[in-house]
Amino acid sequence: MKYAVEPAPIHTLAVAGREERFPVNRVFCVGRNYAAHAREMGKDPDREPPFFFMKPANAVIDAERTRTIPYPPQTKNFHHEIELVVAIGTGGRDISVAEALAHVYGYAVGLDMTRRDLQLDARDKGRPWEFGKSFALSAPIGALKRAADIGHPSSAAITLTVNGQPRQSSDIDKLIWSVAECIAELSRFEALEPGDILMTGTPEGVNAVVAGDTMVGAVDGIGQIEVRVEG
Ligand code: MN
Repeated sequence: MKYAVEPAPIHTLAVAGREERFPVNRVFCVGRNYAAHAREMGKDPDREPPFFFMKPANAVIDAERTRTIPYPPQTKNFHHEIELVVAIGTGGRDISVAEALAHVYGYAVGLDMTRRDLQLDARDKGRPWEFGKSFALSAPIGALKRAADIGHPSSAAITLTVNGQPRQSSDIDKLIWSVAECIAELSRFEALEPGDILMTGTPEGVNAVVAGDTMVGAVDGIGQIEVRVEG
């Protein structure tokens, strides 16, 4: 095969304890999936169906290998969102809630880094969130723990500190829409494919980081990542 230009690299994540790596296809993200975060964003945490947005594959950074991210351009309000990350191993469409977890390859801890000023400006103008959410190097994600090894956690502490100070602290049992429900709903709109990533939403406590800050995010039983923001 001859390409007209250099093809984009395949972005991959580490798999804990294994040699093979997980190739990232698409990144789907759930909006406002913890009630206390919905409230801090000025929205009612009513149980409307979950909504989704996307990040490009080149948003993903293997946080096992790369422990820094650049401070991105065109923002003065760069926010952390610590999230439970789900990796899809088996694709499908119109997946039932009962069958959904069988499509999961594994779980990881990740950050949905957000240019909050751009996101809210777009939101308030009725425009797409794209430049607030969907940009390169905006999703550091740690090593995947395989569901075959750890099962499907439904409760676990999820935390983030910045320079050692607590910023976000909750439990994944507070997800408004469970992992299985998110997969089922998403698959009604788009056939899921192996390699897809689902970021399940962030709990309350989102806030800004600046160059020099070090974030440590963790989900109990799944892992921990440490990411420093560079100038
Ligand atoms: Mn998020």
